[in-house]
Amino acid sequence: MQTITTVRDLRRFVWLHRQAGRTIGFVPTMGALHHGHMALVERCRADNDVTVVSIFVNPTQFGPGEDFDAYPRDLDRDLELCREHGVDAVFHPAVAEMYPEPLQTGIEVPALSTILIGEQRPGHFRGVATVVAKLLNIAEPDRAYFGEKDFQQLAVVRRMAFDLSMRASIVGVPTVREADGLAASSRNKRLTPAERRVAPVIHQGMLAARSLFSTGERDAATLVSAIRSATEREPSISLLSCDLRDSATLGILERVTDKPAVLLVTARLGSVVLIDQLELRPGATEEGEAA
Ligand code: AMP
Repeated sequence: MQTITTVRDLRRFVWLHRQAGRTIGFVPTMGALHHGHMALVERCRADNDVTVVSIFVNPTQFGPGEDFDAYPRDLDRDLELCREHGVDAVFHPAVAEMYPEPLQTGIEVPALSTILIGEQRPGHFRGVATVVAKLLNIAEPDRAYFGEKDFQQLAVVRRMAFDLSMRASIVGVPTVREADGLAASSRNKRLTPAERRVAPVIHQGMLAARSLFSTGERDAATLVSAIRSATEREPSISLLSCDLRDSATLGILERVTDKPAVLLVTARLGSVVLIDQLELRPGATEEGEAA
């Protein structure tokens, strides 16, 4: 496995493989890797000849007062995990390599970026979309992999890639969960033991909504209330948002129709904001992500 720190060296690495006729898959991350990230790597390896992972804590997606400096970093462990999982190259640039000068250009996907998480974190998705565009311009992969866990991010990136006719196909990977159903996330480490014990009720609520859906329920309020009643049983959880949305536009829906829809939840547990999602595909019943 190669560790690459400059834009020039990554371009050269990709060019050499492309000259040899190999396909390139790309997994952008901010490090602190766990088995959720590794599901993206595994999918990438299955689809492509060469897998490149980027590890870059991107300052431009953190707002003032957000914890850019405190974001967990453990490069040695991340590299070890990538090596074990057969990654071909890790791109780990310094901030000055990615941003040699203050940016004058930014990518906005306003309709998708100003709602939900974007409402609480103004500018966050501009930072995400812009750094992903830069990374995709540098690596020029055939495919790039993003987790469905960060559903809004995936929607923003998909739309950006579509609008800007980007070369890479954007591939969404189902959410990886802990044994008790909590979506794997580096934030879970910040939960106290008591908070960690109750956190899976979010997913339990979603499973209750999914079983209603599989028996024919299509009304958003009813599906949402299954999640609300599960989380209300735990007073330490406060639901910040919970609604049914169109999977592509993220517009609020009153019913599931023939288009893919998603239940999106944001919840606060102590000082930690957790997000989770469940896609409801018309025609599907119990398939999709594993419980
Ligand atoms: P991050 O390093 O948190 O920016 O995440 C990098 C990528 O890994 C993003 O596309 C995330 O959506 C994805 N990811 C993180 N956790 C999970 C998970 N539990 N399941 C699937 N994908 C995940």
